[in-house]
Amino acid sequence: MEYTPLEVIGRGSFGQIRKVQREDGTILVRKEISYKAMNQKERTQLIAEFRILKALDHPNIVKYLHHEHVPETHEVHLYMEYCDGGDLASFIRELQQEQAHLPEREIWLVFTQLVLALYRCHYNTVAPASTETGEPPSTIPQSFVLHRDIKPENVFISDSVIKLGDFGLAKLLDRENPLANTYVGTPYYMSPEVLADQPSTPASDIWSLGCVMYELCALQPPFRAKSHLQLSQRIREGKFAPIPDIYSSTLSKLINALLTVTPSSRPTCATLLKLDVIRVYRHELE
Ligand code: ADP
Ligand code: MG
Repeated sequence: MEYTPLEVIGRGSFGQIRKVQREDGTILVRKEISYKAMNQKERTQLIAEFRILKALDHPNIVKYLHHEHVPETHEVHLYMEYCDGGDLASFIRELQQEQAHLPEREIWLVFTQLVLALYRCHYNTVAPASTETGEPPSTIPQSFVLHRDIKPENVFISDSVIKLGDFGLAKLLDRENPLANTYVGTPYYMSPEVLADQPSTPASDIWSLGCVMYELCALQPPFRAKSHLQLSQRIREGKFAPIPDIYSSTLSKLINALLTVTPSSRPTCATLLKLDVIRVYRHELE
């Protein structure tokens, strides 16, 4: 398959992101990852990760199509679906500039779609239909995927559909030094346990989801500080200002539950899907 390179649309931590046109006219995104600095083990893992991503076929996850090795430039090219609506970070910035607030209904629609995407990852299966009363899996299966870098910038909008993107690469490429590499910026969305050097779990993704939900309401992240040290202290205390009072107490309580400092006390994707409000919005999306 031949691709015509178009403009560079983003600069990631591992290379650049470019729009390309496939022979059949379809516009795709190509992530150009340089593996020059990686050792053999890391390279093997990178390929393994692509296989996982390819298998994550879900309407609310950015579709990864295939990858290609380009030995001349020491790059791996990752081809994926192009999301024309940009990411949530730019969307939130626009709301800030207009001093507008997102209607609560929109917030629930984003939330519902992100929970469905995360369910697919955490349970390695699609969520049962909203009409089914069957119990979701009670244990986390052997093979599951953690996102590890949920933040507004990694949530994309495509034709009004919310898609979780920029998957797992952080997990893979930044094992040695997660803070320094993943967060070129500030780790606003990092859970208290990950900050304390404990391994990430599905609950850490739930925390980050809580931060994104908070930011959609308040237009700024729940934990902010002038220094990394102060930020991590605030995150570990888990205290944050209330969201604007235009939003319901149902929404505010949900965000509080997601942002619970003790990971085992946070709701799971399975329990979130059972919420009445989610059932209602799932019906709308179906
Ligand atoms: P990184 O892992 O380096 O953070 P991302 O996948 O998050 O890379 O991409 C960085 C930026 O490139 C995004 O914030 C977005 O602006 C753009 N981008 C990435 N993937 C897509 C996509 N599938 N559709 C549209 N824009 C994208
Ligand atoms: Mg990113």
